[in-house]
Parts: sequence; structure tokens; C-alpha cells
Amino acid sequence: MTYTLKGETGDWEVVIGMEVHAQVTANTKLFSGAATSFGAEPNSQVSMVDAAMPGMLPVLNKYCVEQAVRTGLGLNAQINNYSVFERKNYFYPDLPQGYQISQFLHPIVGKGVVEIDLPDGTTKNIGVTRLHLEQDAGKSLHDQHPTKSFVDLNRSGSALMEIVSEPDLRGPEESAAYLSKLRMILRYLGTCDGNMEEGSMRADVNVSVRKFGAELGTRCEIKNVNSVKAVQQAIEYEARRQIEIIEGGGTIKQETRLWDPVKMETRSMRSKEEAHDYRYFPDPDLLPLEFDDAYVQSIKATLPELPDQKKHRFMKDFGLPLYDATVLIAEKPRAEYFESAANDRDPKLVANWILNELMGLLNKEGKDIVDSPIAAHQIGGLVALIQDNTISGKIAKDVFAEMYQTGKDADKIVEEKGLKQITDSGAIEKIIEAIIAANPDNVAGYKAGKDKLFGFFVGQVMKETGGKANPAIINDLLKKKLS
Ligand code: ADP
Ligand code: MG
Repeated sequence: MTYTLKGETGDWEVVIGMEVHAQVTANTKLFSGAATSFGAEPNSQVSMVDAAMPGMLPVLNKYCVEQAVRTGLGLNAQINNYSVFERKNYFYPDLPQGYQISQFLHPIVGKGVVEIDLPDGTTKNIGVTRLHLEQDAGKSLHDQHPTKSFVDLNRSGSALMEIVSEPDLRGPEESAAYLSKLRMILRYLGTCDGNMEEGSMRADVNVSVRKFGAELGTRCEIKNVNSVKAVQQAIEYEARRQIEIIEGGGTIKQETRLWDPVKMETRSMRSKEEAHDYRYFPDPDLLPLEFDDAYVQSIKATLPELPDQKKHRFMKDFGLPLYDATVLIAEKPRAEYFESAANDRDPKLVANWILNELMGLLNKEGKDIVDSPIAAHQIGGLVALIQDNTISGKIAKDVFAEMYQTGKDADKIVEEKGLKQITDSGAIEKIIEAIIAANPDNVAGYKAGKDKLFGFFVGQVMKETGGKANPAIINDLLKKKLS
């Protein structure tokens, strides 16, 4: 799948590398014991360390280290047994220390790879350059007062993993697929909740353009894009902007830009700073972080099955097509729901009911599968009734609707409403005979070659039986009786 933008001077390739900031799922901060819950009263989760009071010393949170290692393993990456925390110096009102503790020359995680799934069913490997641990900054609030800004330090000191990709992405779809896949992996691992609306995952998107086969172009970095859709829109806009400049005879200045989701444009924020502007140096308050292979192995032993493994297992063990498997594994609870529903049933049928009917209704109401009024074993129960011919697929739709409304089991509804399929050929035959007797004109018409009238007879039988007659038996008997 090649993404191409057409300009006046020919085709352009769009190159993207992403830096994703993922907030580590942990109850306390990277270097302090303050809490990290989202939405708390401003400045209620701030320790002396987070407020950068003089003389306060950071103490590394062991659990955050474990989460970073777990994430590195989930990204098939090199885990570095030796890493170093450094001070990245800059001034910002929401950064009371005047520096951020980050990792620079020696990150905790090195090169890895993420397999992305593209809309045409193909996959592509995207290189991960590194993952490092760092502190988050606080938040400036500019909309609380007409002339003043406020600072909320609740987020100050929370642990972030910065995950940097190689410039391997081409165009908006691949970038969206990468971000979605990365979020999925983090959620499966339980190392970041991936809630982009709450800011616990944010992407800096580096975009450049070039003619196919040419050297990499100069990039612009779009900061803090906070949804998959916005990433796509920002890339499209930014690539067009760069092409217009270059084709107009200009050059791209390397700079940091902002995405404005209302005006749907990127705007210059500041010229690009270089690493040496930050005066990185090892934080004298923290020793280098060292651990042994046994520690890494002990974390590896607790890794869950990851999205790609699950996808391949669903295809192999349940015989599901790629599309079904891909949608089912997209959320871990959805995959678990499917597996407990599929237990001993026809897996393809179960997948159909979940993907087409259940998710259709849930999406309409903005609900997640964990809020489903129908439990997994109940979908299994419905499919069992279809599989053993107790009800037809058509009746099953009505039963399903009732299950969704009432939460009742399928067999209970079938029992109460007398919806059992009629498979007694003798009974169906009698009904057919009566219908044939009552419609001599149509019988004559059918025999004279009006094949379409067959549907009329099927409809009559269904009407007579309240849709409960077994369709295969109706077909057989009607053919016999009408020939
Ligand atoms: P910095 O830390 O200064 O932002 P890096 O060299 O670490 O710079 O790169 C940051 C991101 O920019 C990486 O994700 C990388 O893949 C991406 N990148 C580098 N060069 C390009 C380019 N020419 N076009 C698009 N993305 C690029
Ligand atoms: Mg950067």
C-alpha cells in the first residue's frame, strides 16, 4: 500500500516518525509517593519532591521501572540492564524544578519492533528506536481567570514512557495504525491505559516529504496530538503545506508546530531546539539504574498473550477470517468475551453475532462490551439453539433483541414465547397442502414458469407458522409438491 500525494511537480512520499508519551499505570509518581489519579482537585496530589522544594531528593519507583521493562518486552525490544537518568534543563511555569528528569544517552529500552495492521489486510513492521522513562510536567490553566494563569502540579512527576519510532511510517493510515496498535499493546500489558482524551497517551508527530527514492526531507514536529483521527488530519495538512512550500521554491524550516483541531491546521510554535540546548547531564541525585537478566526474565514470565499472538491463535484455533480476528482482539475484554462465548460452539457463528448484532447495538448506545446486557455465555446459549435447529436464524434475531432488552437467557425466551422451530415435516406438509389448495392461480402461474412465485409460497408458510418453520424443510417440501 503506497501513500502518495500529487503535487504540481509529481508524486510525493510522506515520511513520519512518532514520539509517543504514555503515562505509566502506577498508583504513585516516578520519584515520589504522591498519588496519580485523574481528575483530582488541582494541587491535591503534590509531594515536596513534585513541587521541587529545595533539598528534596527523588526516590525511584520500582513499579514504574517494572512497567517500562514489561513494555519493552511487549515491543520486542532490547532491554538495557544499565540506564541513566539525566536532567533535561528548560524553563516552563509548570516545571518547578527547572529541569525534567529523563533518560538520554542510556535509555532503559533500546531497539524494538511493532507490527501494524493495514486496511488492506497486510502488515508492516515499524522500528522502535528506544523507550525511556521520564517525569511529566504540571499543567498551566489559562481558562480559569480573565487575566491570570494558574498552575496545577498534580501531573508533575508522574511517570511517562517516551516511545520513539523510526521514520518508517508512510502517510496517515500507517501512522494511525501504528498509534492504534501501540495503544492496544500497552493496554494488553496494563502499562498505560491509553486514554488519549485524558491525556494519558499523546503523540508528537514528525512529518517530512520527499520525492520517491530521494533522501529524507527536513521534518516538522507536531506536538501533543491527542487522538488517532487528529494524527491523520494533522499529517495530511502538514504534508500538503510542506509540498506547497517546496514546489513554490521555498525550503522547510525544522520547527515545532501545533495542531489546531478547530481550524484544522498546524501552526508554528517555536523553532526546533537541539539536544545541546537542554544541557543534559546525569542527575547527581540518582544512581545509574542497573538490574540483572534474572529480573528481566521474571517480568517476561508474567507477560500476557499479546494482540498479534491472540489474532493468530483465533485464526488458527477457531478458523476465523483475518477481519473477524482483528476486530475481536482490538480490545482485550472483547477478545475474552468472544472466547467464553465460543466455548464449544460454532466460533464463526459466535463471531458473527458479536461483531454484527451485539457490537452494532453497543456502539449505538456508546457502550463497551463489559457493559453488555447479554453475558458471553448467553450469546453462546443463543448460538447453541441455532446450531441444534431449535430456532431459525431469523427467529434468533428476535430472540437476540429480547435478550438485549431483558437480559434473559435465549432458551427461556424461546420457551416463554413458543418460538421453537417446527421441524416436523408432517405438520409442515399439511400447511403446504392447505396453501396450495387455497391458491390455485398462483400454482398454475408457477407451473407455467413464473419461478418468482416460489417466494410467495415460502412467505405463506412462514406467515402461517409465525416464521417458525424450518426453511430447509419448507424448500424441500414445496419443490416436491409444486412439481
Ligand atoms: P528529537 O529528539 O530532536 O525530536 P530524533 O532524531 O530523536 O529527534 O527524532 C525524533 C523523531 O523524528 C523520531 O520518531 C524519528 O523517527 C523522526 N524523524 C527523524 N527524521 C525524520 C524525517 N526526516 N521525517 C520524519 N520523521 C523523522
Ligand atoms: Mg522530539
